[in-house]
Amino acid sequence: MTADVQTIVVGAGAVGLAIGRALAMAGHEVMLLEQHALIGSETSSRNSEVIHAGIYYPPGSLRATLCVRGKELLYAFCAENSVAHARCGKLLVATNESQLPKLAAIKETAAKNGVTDLEPLGGNAARALEPELACVGALLSPSTGIIDSHGYMLALEGHIEGRGGSVVLRCPVERIEKTPDELFRLTTGGDSPGAITCRNLVLSAGLHASQLARTLPFGEGYQPPETYYAKGQYYALSGRSPFKRHIYPMPDGGWLGLHATVDIGGRCKFGPDIEWIPGLDYTFVPEKLEKFLGFIRSYYPGLEVERLHPDYTGIRPKLYREGEPVPDFAIHGADEHGQQGLVALYGIESPGLTAALAIGEVVAGLLARRG
Ligand SMILES: Cc1cc2nc3c(=O)[nH]c(=O)nc-3n(C[C@H](O)[C@H](O)[C@H](O)COP(=O)(O)OP(=O)(O)OC[C@H]3O[C@@H](n4cnc5c(N)ncnc54)[C@H](O)[C@@H]3O)c2cc1C
Repeated sequence: MTADVQTIVVGAGAVGLAIGRALAMAGHEVMLLEQHALIGSETSSRNSEVIHAGIYYPPGSLRATLCVRGKELLYAFCAENSVAHARCGKLLVATNESQLPKLAAIKETAAKNGVTDLEPLGGNAARALEPELACVGALLSPSTGIIDSHGYMLALEGHIEGRGGSVVLRCPVERIEKTPDELFRLTTGGDSPGAITCRNLVLSAGLHASQLARTLPFGEGYQPPETYYAKGQYYALSGRSPFKRHIYPMPDGGWLGLHATVDIGGRCKFGPDIEWIPGLDYTFVPEKLEKFLGFIRSYYPGLEVERLHPDYTGIRPKLYREGEPVPDFAIHGADEHGQQGLVALYGIESPGLTAALAIGEVVAGLLARRG
């Protein structure tokens, strides 16, 4: 029995699309299956849209290496494909003296990750760049940027289709089995339920990755990791942005802190906070306003509360519970789960948008031996 399609990618978020593009460029016959009516309508459209420099992540981790590589690929991709973006830079700020040693430690970590362009600034020098800012010291990251994530995903889709691939919408994958011929058989629901087989399968299903992977029987010794959820909420600021660059407070564990970002249209927003939730729930919680004001005023004392209004929320797929050590991205190939032709991605939270093109390279590499 031959497969209906050589390679299927489940999930058309930024990561699935970047993987689809990398596979199409490597010569695969590619089909993406997406449950929603639009590409990128889950986490890829509910984030800060920041092109991260690769500053914080543990040296040698996938998050560090794929962020740094992904950033370079992404800037080149945006330039070549006219995707709106800006290398606007960011200031990572210490708002009191006790945070200054942490700033120095972050600079060292960044250098180990190959990010050697961070510039330490005193409080006055930082305020010379951003007059509305309150801080006692800062690190300027010139390679941090901002991207129009929708334009990015549309460009990726165009590359896939330009190489003969396809993106099928409204096509939820409900179950995966293995056929006696070692193919993957996907049962799909939605408008036109059916089944489709493929030789290679990539699960890039974001928040649903663990649940979907569990439908496929694995041998003893492998269990898809559990995905936990942490919601982040944003407030937008009406009127002129007080900042030209992104402003980030000190990170706290796996949370980058409640930052100010300036989007591609020059609009400023604040967030995301972090709230661990038991299930998928995007509800905006207005009662969090006071907490937001406290965080924001620590670096932007001139904030006028009337200018803040509710924006949106996003949910991070986490591979750990609150308080546990932060694990790396999980990109599992046959070495991990024993299934030839299968790559499953779990816990692709930040900086997944930045790293997507580099993740695509890794996945194409894992499937290169199989063809
Ligand atoms: C609040 C927040 C802020 C962030 N900020 C940044 C940032 O500034 N910079 C950065 O680099 N990263 C950021 N990230 C991370 C980034 O958004 C994600 O890493 C990235 O979008 C993940 O893309 P994805 O394709 O893996 O997931 P998704 O975008 O969630 O895509 C997965 C897709 O799979 C589909 N799917 C799932 N199950 C099925 C199924 N059974 N059948 C068919 N389709 C299915 C879903 O519908 C979805 O479209 C942030 C994340 C959050 C939550």
